[in-house]
Amino acid sequence: MLSRGERFINSLKDERSVLFEGKRIEDLGSHPAFKGPLETITSLFNMLDDPSEKDKVGFKLPDRVSYAHSSFLVPYTLEDLQQRSLAFHTWSKETHGMMTRLSDYARSMITGWYAARKELGKLDPHFESKITAYYTAARDQDLFLTTAIVDPQIDRSSGLEDGRVAERFLHVVRETSDGIIVRGAKMIATGAPYTHDFIISSFLEFKPEEAKHAHVLIVPANSQGIHIVCRESFTDMRKNDHILSSRYDEMDAVLFFDDVFIPWERVLLYGKSETVLTLRANKTANSLAFHQNIVRYVAKLEFVTGIAFAVAESIGVNEYLHVQEKLGELLTQIDTMKALVIASEVQAKPDDSGVLVPELSYIHTARNIGTRFYPRAIEILQQIGGGGFVQVPSRFEDFFGVISNHMHHYFEGKTVSAEKKVQLFKLAWDLIGSPLGSRHELYERFYAGDPVRAYAKQYSESDQASFTDPIWRLLRETSK
Ligand SMILES: Cc1cc2nc3c(=O)[nH]c(=O)nc-3n(C[C@H](O)[C@H](O)[C@H](O)COP(=O)(O)OP(=O)(O)OC[C@H]3O[C@@H](n4cnc5c(N)ncnc54)[C@H](O)[C@@H]3O)c2cc1C
Repeated sequence: MLSRGERFINSLKDERSVLFEGKRIEDLGSHPAFKGPLETITSLFNMLDDPSEKDKVGFKLPDRVSYAHSSFLVPYTLEDLQQRSLAFHTWSKETHGMMTRLSDYARSMITGWYAARKELGKLDPHFESKITAYYTAARDQDLFLTTAIVDPQIDRSSGLEDGRVAERFLHVVRETSDGIIVRGAKMIATGAPYTHDFIISSFLEFKPEEAKHAHVLIVPANSQGIHIVCRESFTDMRKNDHILSSRYDEMDAVLFFDDVFIPWERVLLYGKSETVLTLRANKTANSLAFHQNIVRYVAKLEFVTGIAFAVAESIGVNEYLHVQEKLGELLTQIDTMKALVIASEVQAKPDDSGVLVPELSYIHTARNIGTRFYPRAIEILQQIGGGGFVQVPSRFEDFFGVISNHMHHYFEGKTVSAEKKVQLFKLAWDLIGSPLGSRHELYERFYAGDPVRAYAKQYSESDQASFTDPIWRLLRETSK
């Protein structure tokens, strides 16, 4: 019998149009750009059938036999919430935080919409039945999901009033009795080539007349007319030289929709701008999904910190005060992020349906400071290792094979052998200097939207009077 992971890989042999280097890929599982990351995902999926792992990443379905990933668990108690957290943590730890869109984020958004179906059902009479059917299918069939939200960068100073922009942003061109036909593009969807479905919406603040652009859709990746246009691959299968790039390049792609038909059952909302805005602002769904973002972030910070400690020890610079200060800073990053995760969980409150919703204000804070923590953590690693990252020879095996005695002589570290030191610095370079590493820094700056507007939103949506009132009171008292 095929494993869960193998079934996942087989399920990708469909009519999808994945374009890479100008050609359509026929078999993702054997393609050099995808083989490594898909093997990683296969092993993560298989954890759900491994008796020693499945309770960490999954929960029992109503049949009390099969397991589904805990991102589909609707939390009613703190234990449920922590079970979700454990699943996010376990997958992130397995990939050292280097695979960020393992579907658990998008699955959580679906779980959140399902959990809030009574409330959201007020937006559209068919919403509740559609989301219930989809949630159940996605959960029971282990569907891999990703989001495609951001519209293409055509001219950010113009909105939908500009025809050039409106025509390229995803919009409905026709309605039929069976569904809608959409045209346009979406800017980035991570994991797009191997996803089953795209969760599609937009960050736009629609006006009522912009109804054709206002929709929330669930679109199968193999729909006719979708072109999944991949960026350059950052996979490097020289495993000893690129431990991370050989396994974790989760691939980002642009989506072109060439008059794609979407049946009504996959159109969650369409045509009423205010309903789409209300759904997007739904606290239950956003909290459950964004909670995943910050749990997985801890694993990544721990990984960078581990590498920084090892680099510092291996060349004996951990004895310097300023290096210790920087290593200490990395620890404060981890504790800050962990504390915000804990705070969001223990201060979770039930929504009107009794679903326990993590405290969103801590989650927003964690996502915002995360945009600054990661670039700073990478900067610290550079400051600690200096030129050591580029002194390593091109190919690990070759050099130790050809001029072994010199290698052992000149590459030895304070606490480690030459081989271990070269391996360690290659790993660190893969994190800070490889194409994959640079992509991760960009990802952490932008994955949650524009960080500038996200910080500004924290201010504009805050209870400002609670901060300024005491100041005015103090001034009044002083001037009496
Ligand atoms: C590696 C990576 C993977 C991603 N994966 C996904 C994914 O899977 N799914 C998904 O939906 N999205 C994904 N994203 C997209 C991400 O959500 C966007 O990059 C993010 O929302 C920022 O939008 P943008 O890139 O279009 O930048 P822009 O919004 O174009 O911003 C560019 C610059 O212009 C400024 N700017 C632009 N407009 C304004 C304005 N109105 N006011 C003030 N300043 C402005 C910004 O501050 C910024 O400095 C991914 C991004 C990256 C980098």
